[in-house]
Parts: sequence; structure tokens; C-alpha cells
Amino acid sequence: MEVKTLNNSDLIKNPVIGQMSLSNHEQILFCNDNATGLKAIIAIHNTVLGPSLGGTRMWNYNNEMEALTDVLRLSRGMTYKSSVAGLNLGGGKAVIIGDPKKIKNEALLRRFGKFVDSLGGKYITAEDVAMTSRDMEIIKMETDYVSGLPENMGGSGNPSPVTAYGVYVSMKASAKEVWGNDSLSGKKVLVQGIGHVGEVLVDHLTKEGAKVYIHDISEERLKLAAAKYKAEVVTEDKMFDLDIDIYAPCALGATVNDETLGKLKCKIICGAANNQLADEKHHGEVVGKQGILYAPDYVVNAGGIINVYYELEGYNRERAMTHAEKIYDTTFNLFQLAKKEGIPTYMAANRLGEERIAAIARINAVL
Ligand code: NAD
Repeated sequence: MEVKTLNNSDLIKNPVIGQMSLSNHEQILFCNDNATGLKAIIAIHNTVLGPSLGGTRMWNYNNEMEALTDVLRLSRGMTYKSSVAGLNLGGGKAVIIGDPKKIKNEALLRRFGKFVDSLGGKYITAEDVAMTSRDMEIIKMETDYVSGLPENMGGSGNPSPVTAYGVYVSMKASAKEVWGNDSLSGKKVLVQGIGHVGEVLVDHLTKEGAKVYIHDISEERLKLAAAKYKAEVVTEDKMFDLDIDIYAPCALGATVNDETLGKLKCKIICGAANNQLADEKHHGEVVGKQGILYAPDYVVNAGGIINVYYELEGYNRERAMTHAEKIYDTTFNLFQLAKKEGIPTYMAANRLGEERIAAIARINAVL
């Protein structure tokens, strides 16, 4: 994918289409409705592989540029995630600007649904930060281009078991790369964040005989998980000093940073959280130089988008799980590419994503 570079003065003069051309975005829809107070941006990054799919995030951005930058970054990320996961989907994302507690209501969401509908299927929305499955039901009143609906509406329901399974198989592929065999039995694994994904991951790990350490800001979740899985609870101040084999970030982003890399003694980082590298280029390089194998987050956590993809085809959890199992091979193959090319693993993942899009674009051009 061609990515242009613009200098700062170009960007000041061309803050919108200039930014779009930097990341090679196809289209942006700016949505405004004075009656409901809706202000939203829908960004479509790339539709070579199929309709763009990505969640709608509601956030009280400080200004419009912050919202635009966020939606451009997130939609581009979706292109890579779906491409590497082998899905026939492009990348898109939407942001609704404003405090959900103050302005989110039925009329605003339905108006947003009408904007989604106006794109005729080029963008399919789903749940993201500050949106619920009930919100998706409301948006669905105005458009069919919604996925990630509850099971009682014929949707795919909670994606977390599929995501967690993808993380688990990705971890096994990472183990194979580092230790020559993919068994996690006896391996010491720190899982940070025992939420929807983290808990199911702990279940898989415990069943395979790993020694699991857990950390969460919720005392209640920790207590429950510790009792259920016999996992060892660790406090925040001790967590990165532990002598472990694998670190699985399953809470929040940017936990692979200067501070944690100065302490981490693990051989593998593989978890569900999005945007784990605080600075992709810098920490993506440093992590490898420290002898830690980083399994790129969007490859590892693709189970969520895989789950939603199968909803579009008439949901079948078995098919979604079978597809999620392929994350093992994808992870292993990208490690081989990184070694062959002498590049960091995050870069190898990006390259896999770009190569698939370029190959399918050539087929489309022929037909
Ligand atoms: P969740 O909200 O159910 O769980 C997150 C857990 O992390 C909670 O238990 C919370 O208490 C804990 N947490 C929050 N801040 C923390 C901190 N500073 N330190 C330790 N623990 C903290 O979320 P989830 O659905 O399990 O998703 C986990 C991560 O995976 C998120 O980053 C999410 O974006 C990403 N992800 C999830 C899916 C999915 O299918 N759910 C798919 C792709 C990516």
C-alpha cells in the first residue's frame, strides 16, 4: 500500500485530505445532525478485500482533529487485522464525538444508523468503547450494516471465548518458535487483566498445566479467578519483576514501554490487549533486541473480528473457532518471515497484511 509523506506545513494547509493521503484512506463521512446533537466521523481505509468493518467508539474528544486522527488510526488498523486474519473484509471505524453519559440516546443512535446505511454496505459497524449490544440493536433499527449483535437477535454474541482461544493458540505457536515445541505445560505465564478474554485464557492455560500468575485492578475478579483456577495473584508493583516465561497483556494498551521493558524477564509477549507497544516502531525494535519474541497484538487478538465476520454469513461458532485456530499458523509464519527478512515481528505482520491486499487487488484488476 502506498503511503505518502507530507511535511508539517502541507498538513497544516491540508489537515483532512492531507491526513487521508498519508495513511492512504479511501473515504471519510462526516456526520452532523443538529436535532439530536450527533457529530460523528466514519472512516473507510481500504475496501480491496471486502466491505470495511470496525466498531463505533463514543468518546468525549478534546477537539475534532483528535477525533479525526483517532478514527484514521483505528480504521487503518482494522485493514491490517482483517487482512492478516484472512478475512474478506476491509478496514473501517467510526467515532461519535461527545460524552456518552450526557448525549447518547435512541434518536442520536438511530440518526447515526441512517448515516451508516447511507454508505450502502461499504462500512459495517459493531460495538467498541462506550457502546453496548443494546446500542447496536438500536442502530440496527435504521440499517442492516451492523454486526456483533446479541445471540437472541441472531448475532454472534460475546466474542471473548473466540478471542481467548486465538490468544492461546498464538501463544503456543510462539512457544514453538522459542522452545522448539508448543507445549505450555510448566511454563510460567503472567496474565494482566482477568476480564472477558483474560479469564478464558487462564482457563486454557491452567488446563494445559501452565503456572499462571494473575493481576487485575479489580480485587473481586482476582479473588474469584484465584479460587477457580488456583492461579497466583500478584500485585502491580511486583508483576514486572517476576521470573516468568510469557507475559500476556489482556487489560489495556501501551504496557510494552521503556519502563516495563527495563524489567521484563520473559521470552514471549503474547496477549489480547490492543496497541500493546507504546511506540510501535521504537518498542517493536527494542523488544526483539532484548531477546523477547513479540507476537503482534492484532494478529493474536483477531478472534474478535473473526467471530463477527461469521455473523455476516449466518453465524456458526464452530466455523469461527476453526478459523481462529489458524492464528497458530499465521503467528508461526510471521515469525519465519521476520527471521528471513531480519525485521521486527510487528513489521512482518504489517507486511503479510499488505501483501495479501496487493495480491487480491491484482486479481480484481484482471477481472
Ligand atoms: P474486559 O473489560 O472484560 O476486561 C479487562 C480487565 O482488565 C478487567 O477485569 C479490568 O478490571 C482489568 N483492568 C483494567 N485496567 C487494568 C490495569 N491497569 N491493570 C490491570 N487490570 C486492569 O475486556 P476484555 O473484553 O477482556 O478485553 C481485554 C483486552 O483485549 C482489551 O484491551 C480489548 O480491547 C482487547 N480485545 C478484546 C477482544 C474481545 O473479544 N473481547 C477482542 C480484541 C481485543
